[in-house]
Amino acid sequence: MSDTCIFCKIAAGDIPAKKVHEDDEFIAFHDINPAAPVHLLVVPKHHVRSLADVTADDAAWLGRMMTLVQQLAFDNGCTPGHDGGFRLVVNTGREGGQEVDHLHFHILGGPRPWNKRA
Ligand code: ADP
Repeated sequence: MSDTCIFCKIAAGDIPAKKVHEDDEFIAFHDINPAAPVHLLVVPKHHVRSLADVTADDAAWLGRMMTLVQQLAFDNGCTPGHDGGFRLVVNTGREGGQEVDHLHFHILGGPRPWNKRA
């Protein structure tokens, strides 16, 4: 837990978010500034700065995080089937476009065209 990290605060319940999922390890909620009709963020509750900081020791929980993605996407408005689907984005570091320094997966989906930065 980092005292200054906004996603740690959301995971701790200290800042509100439109949650769609919570378990012992992860929280998922709607992005406050959506870039697509469906825009969710999936976040580990423990503080990890970015994908550049993970190691082989993190493989088990990262695998569990990945397996949550399709369930969350299709339960929250992404269109099932090959004509539907979703985009998974993990901005990593400043040159990767990461602004919040707590690892998060963006799930983007819904009918195209999308606008803004997606
Ligand atoms: P970028 O802003 O370039 O997408 P990141 O990959 O770090 O950079 O994404 C951070 C995301 O967190 C942004 O999409 C932003 O809208 C979202 N966000 C920031 N604060 C909140 C919040 N309090 N609740 C929900 N989403 C948030």
